[in-house]
Amino acid sequence: MFDVMYKTDGIGLSAPQVGVNVQLMVFNPAGVKGEGEEIVLVNPVVYKMSKRLLVYEESCLSFPGIYANVVRPDNVKIDAQDVTGAKIKFKLSGLSARVFQHEFDHLQGILFFDRMSLDVLESVREGLKVCKNVIIVQNNEIASKFYLIAVVNARTV
Ligand SMILES: [Zn+2]
Repeated sequence: MFDVMYKTDGIGLSAPQVGVNVQLMVFNPAGVKGEGEEIVLVNPVVYKMSKRLLVYEESCLSFPGIYANVVRPDNVKIDAQDVTGAKIKFKLSGLSARVFQHEFDHLQGILFFDRMSLDVLESVREGLKVCKNVIIVQNNEIASKFYLIAVVNARTV
C-alpha cells in the first residue's frame, strides 16, 4: 500500500481505496519513501478529538484533481493496533491528525466531500462528477461516455 501511496503522490491510503475491505490505513505525512515515518494502523478508534477546528485544503487519491477546504478537529487521540496486533495509543496533531482523520473516514465509508461546507461542495461539484464516472468504470459497473473518450485519447497519444 505504501508503494501505491507514493506512486500517486499521496500521504495516506486506506485499505478500502485499494479494494481491500479491512480496517487498515497507512500514512506518511512526508509523502516520500525513506523520509518521515511510515505508520500502519489496524482497527483504529478515535476516543477524543479537540474542540479546536482547523480548515485545511485536502485532496483524495480516489478523486484525482479535486482540492477543497475541509474543517476538522486540530488533534485526535486514538487507539489502534500495529501490524503485529499490539495495542497502541496515539495523540496525533497537525498534518498527521489531518491525514489520519481523512483515512479514518474512508474506513467508515465517509468521503471528504461529505465533510465539505455547501459552498465548498458547490465549487468542486463538476470535478466530482467526472471523478465519479471514472470510479464507476474502474469498478466495472458501467462504461460511461467519459471513460470511452479517455480511452480513445490514451490510445492516440
Ligand atoms: Zn481519500
